[in-house]
Amino acid sequence: MQDTSEPEIVYLDNAAATRCDPRVVEVIVGHHLHGYGNPGALTHASGRAAAQAVNDARVALRRLVASSLPDGDVDVVFTSGATEANNLLVTGLLATAPAARRRIVTSSVEHASIVEPLAAARDAGFDVVACPVDANGRVDLDALRELVDDTTLLVTIQLANNELGTIQPVDRIADIAHAAGAIVHCDSAQAVGKVPVDMGVLDIDAISLSGGKFHGPKGTGALVVRRAVASRLTPLQRGGGQEGGLRSGTTDVPGVAGLGEAARICVDGLAGEVHRIAHLRNQLEDLLAEALPGLRVNGGDATRVPGILSVVLPRASASLVLGLVDDVAASTGSACSAGGPSRVLRAIGHDDATAARTLRLSLGRFTTEDDVRRAARSLVEAVGRIERRAGTLPSRQQSSPWTPVTGAHSSPVGS
Ligand code: PMP
Repeated sequence: MQDTSEPEIVYLDNAAATRCDPRVVEVIVGHHLHGYGNPGALTHASGRAAAQAVNDARVALRRLVASSLPDGDVDVVFTSGATEANNLLVTGLLATAPAARRRIVTSSVEHASIVEPLAAARDAGFDVVACPVDANGRVDLDALRELVDDTTLLVTIQLANNELGTIQPVDRIADIAHAAGAIVHCDSAQAVGKVPVDMGVLDIDAISLSGGKFHGPKGTGALVVRRAVASRLTPLQRGGGQEGGLRSGTTDVPGVAGLGEAARICVDGLAGEVHRIAHLRNQLEDLLAEALPGLRVNGGDATRVPGILSVVLPRASASLVLGLVDDVAASTGSACSAGGPSRVLRAIGHDDATAARTLRLSLGRFTTEDDVRRAARSLVEAVGRIERRAGTLPSRQQSSPWTPVTGAHSSPVGS
């Protein structure tokens, strides 16, 4: 098989996509080549083996995110990722919403896969309100108390932010929401597999997760949902009634089995990994801060997932820096594909110029100390080149080096 990895590049874009763990790839390939029966075809051994693999993956996911809850209380609905899981939860609750509960409360830093279905809910007549966050991206709990009342159907607030890494005080959010009788959902795409998550401990009703974010296969994910809430969901697609009727279509057994393996690997190694990756992230932060006085860390005062470091460079544009380095893959924080600065950076108070200097570096299972040193060296060198160039240019052109461009390995943080 062709090796498509790029060993010479330091990959620091794990918040956008992670490398699939080779142990996961092995499981996927095995199911494509051997266990290829339809899990609905229980008349033969191949189908029964596939059904068993799907069931095993369900158990693995429950262990990963709901280990304190009894199995019978929680359903795992396999989806194509967190986007579909978020859509299923938000859109799926609308049809059965009681007339007296038409309010949905969210935060101002959610991913597009929450923002867009909520926009559709608003168009359908629901009262959708976004709770503000502080300068670190944390939900303002006093504001939340004001927004959540006994007309609230749903409170949907992410567990960790994809641009900043900020972890929300979800247990306290759940207290507020449940006191008002609302359902609590967390988009946990950036938290699952990165930090311990337990729906029972956090007291939340549903979470969305994405396999491609924790070294599982891309295009896999799940909505993990308490049974009492699952029974209120209307499916997005109808057909053969797979996944308890909530997601019809032949199950992607290799993907689901790969997702289960990725979950098992996380459960086994999570405690050590949290520590190791946080240590590397802090090292990277220190190296950059030492070499670039004035560097600011977004979300620096909040509890963050260990793998995300979002920094504001003192002067240079982040996309220009990433355009110059040819051995670091990372993301800018400045622009979304739809144009304009990121919603998240605006929500924490950044103006356009500050957003344009924001760089997101995200680490993962395969990040090494050598990677961190190499990346810091390359980034600092690129910043130095830009600053020297700016300092030597005639004043009329002085602004041009700060103009954002998209580098070969840069991507805006839409993911
Ligand atoms: N939510 C968050 C916070 C994310 O970071 C992402 C992935 N970029 C998603 C949802 C969507 O996940 P997926 O790509 O699996 O649909």
